[in-house]
Amino acid sequence: MQSIKSVAAEGLKERMTFHSDYCNKHTFTRGNEDIVKPVRMMILNGKVVCPRCELDKHEKKFQKDLESQIDFRQRTKKFNMLEKHSMFRDRTVSQATFDNYNVVEPEETKNKQRMVELFGYLQKGEVFNVFLQGLPGVGKSHLGYAALKALNVPPDPDNPKDMGKSCLFINMEEAASAIKDSFSNKESKYTESYVTQLMGDADYLVIDDLGAETGSEHSDSRASDFIHRLIYKVTSARQDKATIYTTNLTSKKLYQMYDSKLVSRIMQKQQYIVFKETSDKREMELPF
Ligand SMILES: [Zn+2]
Repeated sequence: MQSIKSVAAEGLKERMTFHSDYCNKHTFTRGNEDIVKPVRMMILNGKVVCPRCELDKHEKKFQKDLESQIDFRQRTKKFNMLEKHSMFRDRTVSQATFDNYNVVEPEETKNKQRMVELFGYLQKGEVFNVFLQGLPGVGKSHLGYAALKALNVPPDPDNPKDMGKSCLFINMEEAASAIKDSFSNKESKYTESYVTQLMGDADYLVIDDLGAETGSEHSDSRASDFIHRLIYKVTSARQDKATIYTTNLTSKKLYQMYDSKLVSRIMQKQQYIVFKETSDKREMELPF
């Protein structure tokens, strides 16, 4: 019985025969001199080729493929940010899309249309902020997340310069409590600098439920220095990037809670989507 090796060699012999020409591109070094080492050409599948050149070509291609695979994995990191690093109060928000935003009341229809329209401008690269304001449960977070989902574009595998778009959804209360926890828990990765850097880096960011992180939504007290510092850091890093805010707070409440310099910074380049009539979508219909 023939071994696999000899069968392969037979097959190779059939397709490859030596040619009388030599390839003179290959050299070796002796002392300071490059000396040409002629390599005998072969006929491979009917074509005259130099085996060394063929090998180099394959090696280069292999190297390039490997590099582009590594590079692509690197590039998809940005794209994966939304799923990997978002912080939710209510995890179901991560299922939100424009399609599954149920419109019942006219205001919802209008506001959804407006968000879709603003998404279109953001996608084209325009930079502005969006402020979704209204009572809890009207679907502000849903629309914010839906916009991110639509803006979250993976990198083009064929264009090594394309990094895709990174999106991040951060519920402010979750973020603030994770950071506070890291003050005493040295194992936690959610340090102030880690979280603020994430929020600053994302191409598109939703700051969800602005105001809830202060813990004084229902009182007259002001946000702490810590919260002020947090929002300052994030907004400074995002001056040339789009941020979508959702909040239950009225402008009066905003000014009462945060210092006015911070509020005016948040309100820069702002587009407003306000819910006044929509009822709480989370309320179930109960028979009593
Ligand atoms: Zn060659």
